[in-house]
Parts: sequence; C-alpha cells; structure tokens
Amino acid sequence: MADNKLYEVLRVPRTAGDAEIKKSYRKLAKEFHPDKNPEAGDKFKEISFAYEVLSDPKKRQIYDKHGIKGVQEGASDGFPSDDIFSQLFGGGASGLFGGLGGFGGGMGGRRKSRRGEDTVHPLKVTLEDMYNGKTAKLQLSKNVLCAACAGIGGAEGAVTTCKQCRGYGYKVSYRQLAPGMAQQIQEKCTHCQTTGEIINEKDRCTTCEGKKVVNQTKILEVHVDKGMRESQKILFRGEGDQMPEVQPGDVVIVLQQKPHPTFERSGDDLIMTKSIGLAEALCGASFVVRHLDGRNLLIKHPAGHVIRPGDVKGVVGEGMPQYRNPFEKGNLYINFEVTFPKNHFCSEKVLMDLKTTLGPNIPPTVVPRDAEEVDLQEYDPTHRDASGRSAEAYASDEDEMHQHSGVQCAHQ
Ligand SMILES: [Zn+2]
Ligand SMILES: [Zn+2]
Repeated sequence: MADNKLYEVLRVPRTAGDAEIKKSYRKLAKEFHPDKNPEAGDKFKEISFAYEVLSDPKKRQIYDKHGIKGVQEGASDGFPSDDIFSQLFGGGASGLFGGLGGFGGGMGGRRKSRRGEDTVHPLKVTLEDMYNGKTAKLQLSKNVLCAACAGIGGAEGAVTTCKQCRGYGYKVSYRQLAPGMAQQIQEKCTHCQTTGEIINEKDRCTTCEGKKVVNQTKILEVHVDKGMRESQKILFRGEGDQMPEVQPGDVVIVLQQKPHPTFERSGDDLIMTKSIGLAEALCGASFVVRHLDGRNLLIKHPAGHVIRPGDVKGVVGEGMPQYRNPFEKGNLYINFEVTFPKNHFCSEKVLMDLKTTLGPNIPPTVVPRDAEEVDLQEYDPTHRDASGRSAEAYASDEDEMHQHSGVQCAHQ
C-alpha cells in the first residue's frame, strides 16, 4: 500500500498540482502556526515537513515511489533529524497506542499504516573489513506470520472482535474528579490481552497456538562496503518482526569497529605512530608497514632529512577507500616518535666527535663571578614530601631548599 501520509497532512489528493499543494500548505501553516495555535504542538512541524517534500519535484517523486523511507534514505543533507520521522511515522508501542486517537487517523487506513518497531543489531567488524569490504552472515530470530493460519490465529470465522474493548485493545473510562471535571483513563483490555480479538480455544491454530506468528531463524547477508564507517547503519527494509496488520519494521545493522593495533582512522585518513631511534631520525630511516589489504609498504626517509619528535609525514592515497567511491582513497599519516639513546651509549671520545659534528658553534657558557653551582636532579612530578609540597616548589625558595634538602635527597 502506498504511503499517503504527507498528502493527508497537507489535506490534498495524491494527484494535486503544485499550486494546490502550496495553497493548502499556506492555509494550514496559518492555522497551526505556533504563534496562533500553541496547542497544536508538532502539527506545524509535520505540515512544514510534508510541504518540504511535496513541493520539491525530486523529493516528491522519491516519496511517491518509495514512501517516506525512500526520502529518509535519500536525504543526506539539510533534512530533519530522525525524530521528526519517528514523530510522523513512529514505530513501537507508543506509536501504536498514540495512533488510536492521534495523528494519521481517519479514512480507515489507520490499522494498515501501523508500523512495527525496528530491530537494531550491532555488528563488530575490523578495520580490514571496512577497507576491503566483506559480506558477513548474521543469524537472527524473528517472528513471522504463521503460515498454517495465514496469521489469523485460527480457522476462518474463529476470530471475533473483543466485545469488552470493541476491538481496540484498550478501554477508555471517565473518572469524575469534581463536578464538571473528568479525567479520561485509558487502560489495557485484559479480556483480550490488548489484541482486540477473542479466539475460541478449540478453534485455535495448533501451529502458532493462536499467536498468529511463529519464531523463525533467518540468515541475513550483510554487505560491509569498502569505506564504511564506525556507527554506519545498514538497513534491511521490512525484515523486522511480522505481526498481523502491521507493516514490519526494519532490521538495522550498526557497524562497530574493533580497535586496530596499528592504524587509527580519521575520516578517510589513516593515522599510525612510528617509533624510530635517534640515529634514524638524523641519518635516514626505512621501514615496512603492512597495510590493511596485506600489501607491504616500504617507507623511506632519505638521509640528510631530519625527523623531529612529533613530526607528521604523509603518504598520499594510502588511507581508507571512500565509501561508494572506493578507488579514491584518503591519506596515511605517520606520527614520528624519536627514542633517544641510553646513558653512556658511547665513549667520551666519540661524544666529543659527536659534539663537534652536531654543534660546532655552541658558544662557551659565560659564568658570572657570583654564580652558585646547583645539582640538577631527575624531576618526578609525582614525588611530594611530607609537607605536601612538590619537589618543584623547592627550586623557587632557597631557604626552604636548605631546610628540606635532606629529605629530598633521601628519596633519590
Ligand atoms: Zn497459526
Ligand atoms: Zn478487549
């Protein structure tokens, strides 16, 4: 059945022309404008949204063909967030219940337009899967209409409307609070367990025991496309639980990326950290990175070009493939960490040579006559003495330093 809601919201027939739609929209927008009609609440939003779709030939075409889901999926930019959709087409129990007296009523179409809840499943994937693409098989159990009774629950004619609630599943009663003041109470019908129907025990379908649905295991093939991202949703339209007279909801697969030992992802780019020694930082480096598709990338940094700690260098086109355009790729960025050699890593003679090589122009230190030589010690920010002062505090206060120096040294 075609989705007709937006036309109903604007109170125009499906065949209405642009002028008619516009005219009706203006009239309704005036009537339900929040300034004039604060009680109307979301009605104005619904009207605006319906007009936004139906006044745009492209969107209207999509809507006519694929219903609101089509518009929702085709709408990547500038479209209202999910909550207006759920307001308009809300699934779930609250949506069903609200549907009794609320939005979308009339025309006898209410029951048919009811929509079941979406089922959301997380799917853990690796970064490799998102790079290379993958088909994952997901087993899920869902309710389907009972084939034996075609979802009726019993033999034909066995099902009768519940007399207690007249088929609504809920009963409305009034409680008088004060003269002229009554509270409306809506409560579940216990006679039919809110189904609105009564089936004679002896006429019940033996396969589903009158439940109209049976549980079934189904395997879904989930195509993880190249370039898909964390939290991206993959939709299986209408694969949710089936219920009589309810349009099944969707199965929504939400991707969750497992952490990768080498790469982090940022949009279409990949980021990795590479630790190199001081010699490599100064004299050239080369190393191999195993990429997500198994290729080994040889990365070279020529001698004579210095790598400083924290330098970031990039390899163009070795990032993640773009979603739906996998031949275009982001970049790979490498964060360099430089590890310094250990104490006494070479002889004093070599050190002197190194000093000449690295810093031939180091000016000699000019020592003022009253200079006082102090000890330079390892600084440990977590160290605190008994008085609660950090070691740092000493350096700034000479008197204190003398008083406490014994304590501080004992720690070293
Ligand atoms: Zn059955
Ligand atoms: Zn009932």
